[in-house]
Amino acid sequence: MNLNERDIWYQLLEASRKTHLEALQLFCTFPDDLTELPVNPHRIDAAALFENETLVASHPLSAAFQTASPYAQWRETYKNTGIDINFLRQFGCFALIGDGGAFSCSHMRSFVVYMPAGLYYPRHHHPAEEAYLVLAGSAEFHCDGEPAKRLQAGDISHHKPNQAHATTTTDEAMIAYVVWKGDLKTAPVWTDAELLNS
Ligand code: FE
Repeated sequence: MNLNERDIWYQLLEASRKTHLEALQLFCTFPDDLTELPVNPHRIDAAALFENETLVASHPLSAAFQTASPYAQWRETYKNTGIDINFLRQFGCFALIGDGGAFSCSHMRSFVVYMPAGLYYPRHHHPAEEAYLVLAGSAEFHCDGEPAKRLQAGDISHHKPNQAHATTTTDEAMIAYVVWKGDLKTAPVWTDAELLNS
C-alpha cells in the first residue's frame, strides 16, 4: 500500500467504526484485533456504476467506500454460477474486513454491497449469520419465513445462518454495510440454482 492508499483504507475503517453501533454492535462487536492485509485491486463493471452513483454521498460510510473503490478487490462471487450477465455487470461488493479486504480479524467480515436501481438479487444463502445496514437508497428484502420488507437508510435486515434471502431495488439504488459472523469461510450459493440454469 502506498501512503495515500493506506490513509484511504484507514479513513474507511474509521467511518465503519462510527457506523457500527447499537444493533450492529449487539450483532457482532467491532473488532479490536485488526491487522492489515494487502489488497490486490480487481475492477468489475459495477465499480464504475458505484463511483458515479450520486446517492453514495448521502452517508459518510458509503462515501468512504466510494473513495476506496479504485483500490478495492471487487468480488466476483457469482461468476460462472448460471446467473445472467446483466446481474454480474451491475451487482457490486467488496470487503473492508476479511478476505479481499484491507484488514483482517478473527470473528467478522465486513463489506459494501451496491445494487443500482431496478436490480433483482435472487435467493441465496450461506452459513454465516449476516446483517445488512442500509446506508443510502432503498430496497425490498425477502427473507424466507418472514414478510417482505422495504428498507431505507438506517434500517437493518438480519439473516440467520442458511436462511435464504433475496433483495430487489426498484426506482433507486441501494448501498449497504454488510457484516458477517460465524462461518466466515463458506461462500454464498444460489438457493434456486436449478432455476437460474434453465
Ligand atoms: Fe447474504
